[in-house]
Amino acid sequence: MTKMAQGETLVAKDIRKAFRRSNGWFKPASETQALRGVSFEVRPGEIFGIVGESGCGKSTLARILVGLEDADAGSLSRGDRTLFAPASPTVPAVRRGIQMVFQDPYASLNPRMSVGDVVAEGLAIAGMSKADRDARVAETLSLVGLTPGDASKFPFQFSGGQRQRICIARALVMEPAFLIADEAVSALDVSVQMQILNMLLDLRERIGVSIIFITHDISVVDYICDRVMVVYGGEVVESGKKNAVLDHPENEYTRKLISAVPQITSVKLL
Ligand code: ADP
Repeated sequence: MTKMAQGETLVAKDIRKAFRRSNGWFKPASETQALRGVSFEVRPGEIFGIVGESGCGKSTLARILVGLEDADAGSLSRGDRTLFAPASPTVPAVRRGIQMVFQDPYASLNPRMSVGDVVAEGLAIAGMSKADRDARVAETLSLVGLTPGDASKFPFQFSGGQRQRICIARALVMEPAFLIADEAVSALDVSVQMQILNMLLDLRERIGVSIIFITHDISVVDYICDRVMVVYGGEVVESGKKNAVLDHPENEYTRKLISAVPQITSVKLL
């Protein structure tokens, strides 16, 4: 696989999203402000962490970045290309160069499809020939530590960690410049988490993909990220270089997140 698109920074500005829910005829509709103006940049080849507790808006942000959800306001651009902005046509998800790996490797794979078909699905939709798809799938499976022969097997024949590798292959096969990993290791045992985190670090070295790593777990941020953004209640409360934020947190909420993981200052994950 060739080294992927380099040199473009992903820039998100003031992204806002509210969810409205009807409460029947007699009560007013309620509204949840999931994102209250979130701005950040992800640089080429960088591993950028988005950390915060459940409900802070992380997944909503991920879904907006990848195009599964529309923002109410704000803009997203990659290099000099606008992916969405007020009064600009929105670039379809498939052309954004951003792919997503979901949390649960059990739920996100169709058990009736072979691994080869799962990984090649996006390429087939894009109209690539079967021979080219097979070659690209074999190459991508090797990249994530599986074998080309695994293409003919089915998801149930693999462990949780291997299934997450299949999910990562499904995202990487589209040659994204940015990979979003949304709680991608949370469902796995700690030793398997480490293998997947090390594989992501290795992928960044080998193919130069930028990774947006979304997690509630600040020790994972400590292990893998270059920079981190801390989100609370749909707002960015702090962001910066990982070491600066974790060693000298300025915000009270960041300090709470860090103190919830007592080993972080003394024992690293490895
Ligand atoms: P996180 O990923 O950090 O757990 P989410 O992005 O899933 O947070 O959710 C942020 C907030 O938006 C939560 O209050 C959640 O209940 C709400 N929310 C998310 N998706 C929807 C939806 N489809 N409809 C209504 N509310 C939603």
